[in-house]
Amino acid sequence: MWSTVVVVVVVATLGTALRAPAPTVVRRGMWMSASPEGTKLEARPVENKKQERRRIMKSDKFLRTNGDFSSEEKALVEKQMLAEMKSSLLDSMRAESFETTKGQGAGEVTFRLAKEYGMCWGAERSIELALAATHKFPDQRKHITNELLHNPGVNAMLEQSGIEFIEKTPDGGKRFDDVKAGDVVILPAFGATLAEMQYLEDKGVTTVDTTCPWVSKVWNVVDKQVSRDMTTIIHGKYAHEEAIATASYCQNYIMVKNLDEAEYVCNYILNPTPEGKEDLMKKFAKAMSKGFDPDVHLKKIGIANQTTMYKRETAAIGKLFETTIIRKYGPEAAAERFAAFDTICDATQERQDAITDMIEDPSVAELDFILVVGGFDSSNTAHLVEIPHNKGITAFHINEASCISSSNTLRHRLLDGSVVTTENWLPADRPVKIGVTSGASTPDAYVEEALERIVLLKAALASSEETQLA
Ligand code: SF4
Repeated sequence: MWSTVVVVVVVATLGTALRAPAPTVVRRGMWMSASPEGTKLEARPVENKKQERRRIMKSDKFLRTNGDFSSEEKALVEKQMLAEMKSSLLDSMRAESFETTKGQGAGEVTFRLAKEYGMCWGAERSIELALAATHKFPDQRKHITNELLHNPGVNAMLEQSGIEFIEKTPDGGKRFDDVKAGDVVILPAFGATLAEMQYLEDKGVTTVDTTCPWVSKVWNVVDKQVSRDMTTIIHGKYAHEEAIATASYCQNYIMVKNLDEAEYVCNYILNPTPEGKEDLMKKFAKAMSKGFDPDVHLKKIGIANQTTMYKRETAAIGKLFETTIIRKYGPEAAAERFAAFDTICDATQERQDAITDMIEDPSVAELDFILVVGGFDSSNTAHLVEIPHNKGITAFHINEASCISSSNTLRHRLLDGSVVTTENWLPADRPVKIGVTSGASTPDAYVEEALERIVLLKAALASSEETQLA
């Protein structure tokens, strides 16, 4: 690992006027629905998806490790990471008691940092590879198929480094026509679908794959399930890039986002009825493979997950399906009809455990609220907000320091996904104590910037309070 981060602005991509779609076209065996709105790729059929993925990855034009870059390129990246992503404030808190107090009197603010927080090695590795590509290919046009990871500042930094985001379109396509032979295309930390990998190879681009190895590990699990003719039950969100990529490597799959949905599917396995089938097909219409038939494809199943889901929930879902298979087919059938592997990444789990520890410690009563810093689209960050919220503890989720305004308003994301502004969120007339954590794609420097803003705001509020009293 080379090293650590900065601050910038949000990348806006979407949005083009709708025009009449053009006909479907075929390119070297790949089906693409091409239209002025965008291109929807569909993988060309292959006998073995695992072998196809590995074949593409073996190409000389497919770079995917630090070893694919020179020591000069790596040194430039290291310098950039140190300059832009490091936080001396968080480093010193980590080295001492995980707590620090700034200001005085009514302006005093104490921050208590979760024991595990912030950018994971997979996200850091992904940024390093993307930056290395900018140094290795200074003269080529560089694209990325998606946000590198869910952090607006990181994505803006990459854009400033000359990486163009392949535009998403309202019809669910992407503007792949912007990519030309000879260009460089970066795959994000969440990975890419088989269709995208085939398309980019056909197009003759150089690919820089920054997929986190934890995500690849899930794909390896899926490969094993496919080789055993199993349907994959993905614990994930069907619209999430990582889950979409994972689904593309399955033969057959159905995606459940939580235990309730898993119970729904298990009930069908145990009590299949024509009405139940119709309901299930409707409920999971967007979350199942083409041609999925619950009467055929739920007889041999394996569990896989989006790496950022709740580990305990994935384990509970696995257990539920295992029990269901045993109830349906008997205990001797379990080994043949059911498989589960633990593929939740440690980084996600450690951050969830640390915020759980913080809220379960009796000293949580001292905290005014918890501040969670991370992208609004970041699934692992959203979970860090849910954990205190579910215990009745106030947690504010911001995606960057600019959410904190000097007029004591806070722009933050609620659990339902809406972004709202709360006024007078910071008490003006007394010291405050704030719990702090950040998502696995959040550079420490962004957290420091947010804390600095709070310190300045708190001082300003206290002094205006004093002025009013005087
Ligand atoms: S959260 Fe886990 S899976 Fe995601 S990038 Fe980090 S290490 Fe990889």
